[in-house]
Amino acid sequence: MYNRIYNFSAGPSMLPLPVLEQARDDMMNYQGSGMSVMEMSHRSKVYDAIIKQAEADLREVMNIPDNYKVMFLQGGASMQFANVAMNIMKTGKADYIVTGQFSGKAYKEAQKFGDAHLAATTKEENFTRIPRQEELDLRPDADYVHICFNNTIFGTKWDYIPDTGDVPLVADMSSCILSEPVDVTKFGLIYAGAQKNVAPAGLTIVIAREDLLREDLDKAVPTMCNYATMAENESMYNTPPCYPIYICGLVLNWIKNLGGLEAMKKINEDKAAMLYDCLENSKLFSNPNDKASRSMMNVTFRAEDDEINAKFVKEATAAGFANIKGHRSVGGMRASIYNAMPTEGVAALCEFIKKFEAENL
Ligand SMILES: *Cc1c(COP(=O)(O)O)cnc(C)c1O
Repeated sequence: MYNRIYNFSAGPSMLPLPVLEQARDDMMNYQGSGMSVMEMSHRSKVYDAIIKQAEADLREVMNIPDNYKVMFLQGGASMQFANVAMNIMKTGKADYIVTGQFSGKAYKEAQKFGDAHLAATTKEENFTRIPRQEELDLRPDADYVHICFNNTIFGTKWDYIPDTGDVPLVADMSSCILSEPVDVTKFGLIYAGAQKNVAPAGLTIVIAREDLLREDLDKAVPTMCNYATMAENESMYNTPPCYPIYICGLVLNWIKNLGGLEAMKKINEDKAAMLYDCLENSKLFSNPNDKASRSMMNVTFRAEDDEINAKFVKEATAAGFANIKGHRSVGGMRASIYNAMPTEGVAALCEFIKKFEAENL
């Protein structure tokens, strides 16, 4: 009806069609307010209801306990690389597990603020797997352990939650938040840029255990980077990213209507299984990662011959499969199949892979 194509972009990425339609219907006059959500004061009563409902729905959908604060911030996940260090590095020691590019960036940023220790990495294996518990060199006196739960570029995901003892676990969930249930109580802090699975770019969600937040940070820490201040002001210390928060609310409503995160997980598992099965049966393409560490959201694949990879990207793009080229650091292809990618999109891609293979093998 709209001539939409299947967009496999790693982010910003597809949004659910019913969400876009609702946003369209609300665009000119939101619920009789006479204006668009984009145009209203963030201090207005009508907007207050939007942000409060979005937080309530996030708490309900993710089953977030009351002793956790929810913050709607800006700056992206990349800003949190610094914010986490500035806020949670109380004694100046933190452990980092590097499983890809973003966790590497977080580790590097933390070194500006204190003693960031590399507790494990799979860099030597080109990040094709998640390290096992016994490989983690964790320090019992660290202020936190940082991981990236789903590695967007390399297409791997933690298949277990590492045991960090009494040390709080901090996780970047930018590319897997809301894709399946997670036990929030296992984490001290979770953060996620919204543009992959939650909303348009501009919103960053931070979920933090109350006892980890403190006002008495180093004097040089900007007020805008102080989680305690942001939480105390209910994300309204300054103007929040109003429109992405509103879309986040619509997305949460869409997930609730599907049956919540258990139902979402089932759909995502089925989509990922379909694509991984297709790759396992392929004589041309393969996925380089350990089976246990496979991402449900970002599926990488490639042929041995780079000319074939380039040909595939060109023909797939022409056939309406957008943004299928792999990240420059990995090569080959990557299909990001977030919540909003319909099952038909994955099925169509599998058909295309088979057709391409028949023509090129
Ligand atoms: C996309 C992504 C980031 C970067 O997010 P920005 O919002 O652009 O800063 C960080 N971590 C992960 C896991 C990502 O997927």
